Amino acid sequence: MSQAARVLNGVQIAAAIKEEVAHEVRALQADGITPGLSVVLVGNVAASEIYVRSKVKASGELGIRSEMLTPPESVTTKDMLALVAELNAREEVDGILIQLPLPKHVDTRELLEAVSPEKDVDGFHPINAGRLQSGRPALEPCTPAGIMEILRRSDIPIAGKHAVVLGRSDIVGKPVAMMLLNAHATVTICHSKTDDLARYTRDAEILVAAIGRPGFVTAEMVKPGATLIDVGINRLTDAAEVKRFFPGDAMRARQFAERGSTIVGDIDPAAFASAGAYTPVPGGVGALTIAMLMHNTVKAAKARRGRK
Ligand code: NAP
Repeated sequence: MSQAARVLNGVQIAAAIKEEVAHEVRALQADGITPGLSVVLVGNVAASEIYVRSKVKASGELGIRSEMLTPPESVTTKDMLALVAELNAREEVDGILIQLPLPKHVDTRELLEAVSPEKDVDGFHPINAGRLQSGRPALEPCTPAGIMEILRRSDIPIAGKHAVVLGRSDIVGKPVAMMLLNAHATVTICHSKTDDLARYTRDAEILVAAIGRPGFVTAEMVKPGATLIDVGINRLTDAAEVKRFFPGDAMRARQFAERGSTIVGDIDPAAFASAGAYTPVPGGVGALTIAMLMHNTVKAAKARRGRK
């Protein structure tokens, strides 16, 4: 008989990381240093506002000084570049986070490249991407870094294992593939043009799904005993879909009735039964992102002052 799959609890791991960050902040404060994070939120995107508020709240809880800057929707690329230049120059600002997406008329790439790599706590600057690729110390993107923390803190073996990453975005797929490679996994990256994708997923000992397609990875596509890392956050608003993915799940049905939606990852929950371990959605990878942002802010504060 196969053993029950182990749930990799992102909420618990995030809490442990936040505790460690708070401890580091106290040590810095004892030396007169308070790490500082500036979050820039453009316009009125409701989802972005929720994310930004939780980042500011987490900073406060851990002793990190934070500020929220809110340029209007009409802001130009030039104005934004001037704002970033000001934040780059301010000594007390250790981390700069520009909440995405930006309005279409703002040049996101140019702006992200204007952020000083030393203050790039999202890890999106090409200098940090290059440092990650060449195995040098870098500020690493938060979601992929969170995935690595889940694997390491759950004692999932990585070295020598076949890790398959679905998705090749700059913020999740590519950096997590590089981190897994740096940790000595044998890595395959799949994307929308991959022929016969299941051929790869069925061989994966670690499968990271980051494509943004509800329940795309089915039970037949995974190797029994594999570790499944589900990055996807997909909102379901159709009752039939909710029933299909969560048959007999009273909690989901109640949530759907109350809110009119529920979320599912990129992996069909039915695939979790034969896994060795898996991250649930919600409560898995998503829980780590803010903890890693806090970690990066302290890391940036220390690195800028030449502290280990
Ligand atoms: P993205 O930029 O849209 O990239 C999606 C990737 O998936 C692309 O590389 C695309 O391939 C690939 N893809 C799409 N459909 C596919 C298919 N049918 N078969 C194989 N590959 C396919 O998405 P992202 O920003 O990386 O995010 C991915 C998911 O993770 C989303 O659900 C997002 O909400 C979630 N996410 C969660 C967190 C968090 O937990 N905190 C953070 C970030 C993202 P091509 O390159 O060929 O187009």
